[in-house]
Amino acid sequence: MAKLDGKVAVVTGASSGIGEATAEALAAEGATVVAAARREERLQELTGRIEGSGGRVISVQCDVTDEEQAHELIQRAEQEFGRVDILVNNAGVMLLSKIEKGLSEQWRQMFDVNVLGLLYATDAAIQVMKRQGAGHIINISSVAGRKVRPTGGVYSGTKWAVNAISEGLRQELLEDNIRITVVEPGAVETELASHITDEEVVQEHKRRFGSIEIMQPEDIAGAITYAATQPERVSVNEILIRPTRQAN
Ligand code: NDP
Repeated sequence: MAKLDGKVAVVTGASSGIGEATAEALAAEGATVVAAARREERLQELTGRIEGSGGRVISVQCDVTDEEQAHELIQRAEQEFGRVDILVNNAGVMLLSKIEKGLSEQWRQMFDVNVLGLLYATDAAIQVMKRQGAGHIINISSVAGRKVRPTGGVYSGTKWAVNAISEGLRQELLEDNIRITVVEPGAVETELASHITDEEVVQEHKRRFGSIEIMQPEDIAGAITYAATQPERVSVNEILIRPTRQAN
């Protein structure tokens, strides 16, 4: 019997990178997966692959910055499968730039997705998990939730918020048998940096990580699966995970 047989896992930001790998990893452990993101085609490719290897999955198109859509995502999971055991709040954007550039639309987007989107999905999931008497919420933060660098002030601000929210949730929900895990990856090879619009920052990012072997999405999916497959009495609170050769 696989470790997550009978469990239902919702993964946000499942159309690429860490979320995509996590959906596959949790499905491989037996979980029924609800894969959410905005890009429907990419979700279809993912569900095709999971089904092809015998997994159980549906995709739900969802923009987590829309509170109603985030709530509907959790409701849909419960309607389809009767429960929500695991929520992986993974959807995120990293639009690095110096604050003096005043890219306020990008600041808003980062806070909307990384912080508010996480809260909207979490709020809805808590209602279901409380009724079940158990649940596990896994929030994807970052090394940037512990370290601040120039051009990363706002992104770090969102991930600092994720860490604070996660600790608040942990204390609020422990009597409800709801576990909270925060995962803080270093550099992972995904589409995340491809949305940065400041060319100087793009070049600096390439210089910083071009000469070391960074992590693959599966590496973080492995850490998430580890947390999700512990016995119910064990709450893995925090996982900080860097490429071996990443200094800070
Ligand atoms: P990707 O860009 O590959 O994936 C980001 C995912 O978030 C996509 O599936 C995207 O889907 C989704 N997303 C973005 N905006 C929204 C939205 N409004 N509503 C719903 N989904 C949304 O990057 P990663 O896999 O790297 O990022 C995943 C998480 O990991 C993020 O929280 C990121 O901050 C964190 N992280 C990544 C690191 C790295 O080095 N890659 C390091 C540390 C943390 P779509 O566009 O289809 O909606």
